[in-house]
Amino acid sequence: MAKILITEFINQDSLNDLNSSFEINFDERLWEKKEELKEIIKEYDGLIVRNKTQVNKDILSNANNLKFIGRLGVGLDNIDTEFCKTKNIHVQPATGMNAESVAEYVISSSMSLIKKIPMFHHGTVKGNWPRTTIKSAEINKKCIGIVGFGTIGRKVADYSLKNDLNVLAYDPYIKKLDDNEKNYKLSSIEEIFEDADIISLHLPLTEETKNLINKSSFSKMQKQPIIINTSRGSVVNENDLIDAYNQNLISGFALDVFENEPITKDFYERITSEMNCILTPHISGVTTESNIRVSNFIVKKAIDFFK
Ligand code: NAD
Repeated sequence: MAKILITEFINQDSLNDLNSSFEINFDERLWEKKEELKEIIKEYDGLIVRNKTQVNKDILSNANNLKFIGRLGVGLDNIDTEFCKTKNIHVQPATGMNAESVAEYVISSSMSLIKKIPMFHHGTVKGNWPRTTIKSAEINKKCIGIVGFGTIGRKVADYSLKNDLNVLAYDPYIKKLDDNEKNYKLSSIEEIFEDADIISLHLPLTEETKNLINKSSFSKMQKQPIIINTSRGSVVNENDLIDAYNQNLISGFALDVFENEPITKDFYERITSEMNCILTPHISGVTTESNIRVSNFIVKKAIDFFK
């Protein structure tokens, strides 16, 4: 019977399914114990992780029996996929399984920020009753620029259209939109900077996308857009983002991902409760429903792989 190690949380029913097919070691805090992980990994045929476990060369060099890595999510930046190829280890992301959750987060935070809900909330709980001092707006007919038009970007586009937004999509790896995507416009990133009221990021973190949104990008933004980042923190230069907000180049931001997670003092000391912003601890893809879908999907892939 193949042996599988699970280093982060997983849906309980999916764990039960795994238990009936494999010998399982489940420790949802193991991602923190790097030395222990490095030591025991050599016993396992399969590894199941989320985004906290750093599956780097150091760990993989010891993983002499490993053939399968299941990722309970989609970003693969915590896994050295190139090194996995050299060791013939199959890496399986849960593609699309949390796209609905992320898309709902993007639309709900866009609406909140356009309506200045964080600022109204702050003023009201302070007893200021800011009914006329803060100007709210509608999302209807605004323009959303989606940067990275893959699985989640497309789901966000779908939800945006249902909310009567105009959709611009930037993705250098897509040359033409599908026939059923006539309502979207494939654009340059500059067009998005100029025309979008909301800019939502859906890219993988790579050498090319690191720091993609920086001081120079913010300086080109014409409509004081709202920035939503659910991709990876390092795609946006966080200091430049806060400077851009303080200089009124952007009118709000929702960040679900950060360069350092948990966020560091340097970062949160620059955030004040008066700001039109929403910060969340990397949860946009994690809902009750998506956790079930993601876990079931990876368990099924593991069972098929070891059949
Ligand atoms: P995907 O691979 O389907 O789509 C990514 C898209 O980005 C691709 O179409 C690719 O061509 C495009 N891209 C690559 N480089 C680019 C560049 N330089 N400029 C513009 N586009 C570029 O991935 P996905 O499932 O849509 O997920 C996107 C990212 O969202 C993941 O990589 C992950 O990091 C993040 N994510 C976060 C959460 C969360 O909970 N916050 C949940 C799921 C995914």
